[in-house]
Amino acid sequence: MEKTVKDDCIFCKIANGEISSNTIYEDEHFRVIMDINPASKGHCIILPKTHAANLYELPDDWCKEVMPVAKKCAAVLKDVLDCEGVNVLQNNGALAGQTVFHLHVHLIPRYQDDTVEI
Ligand code: 5GP
Ligand code: ZN
Repeated sequence: MEKTVKDDCIFCKIANGEISSNTIYEDEHFRVIMDINPASKGHCIILPKTHAANLYELPDDWCKEVMPVAKKCAAVLKDVLDCEGVNVLQNNGALAGQTVFHLHVHLIPRYQDDTVEI
C-alpha cells in the first residue's frame, strides 16, 4: 500500500513513532493510541501510518484495512475493560466535529449509565 507522510502533521508523527504515544496496538499500517482527552475509560483512536486528511482522501486499500483493526481493538477493550458496548466514530470536516486533519477512527467504550455524549 502506498504511504505518504505530511511534515507538519502531528498524527503522521505519532502514527510513525516519531512522537511517543500510549500505543495499544500497532501493525505495519496502523497505530492505535489512547486518546489524550478520553470521552470514556479506554477511548482510543486508530491512526493510519499514511497521511489522509479524511475519508475522502484515504485510498481504498487503506480503507479496507481499517475495520479489521477496529474489530480487533474493540475485542481487546471488551476483554480488558469489560465495557457494555463501543462506539466506532470517524469525523470528516470541521462541521462534522473533526479537529485533527489526519484521518482517525475513534473507539469509545460504553458503560452502563455513562454520560458520554457523541
Ligand atoms: P476529532 O475531533 O478530530 O474527531 O478527534 C481528535 C481526537 O484526537 C480528540 O479526541 C483529541 O482528544 C485527540 N487528540 C488530539 N491531539 C492528540 C494528541 O496529541 N495525542 C492523542 N493521544 N490524542 C490527541
Ligand atoms: Zn498526517
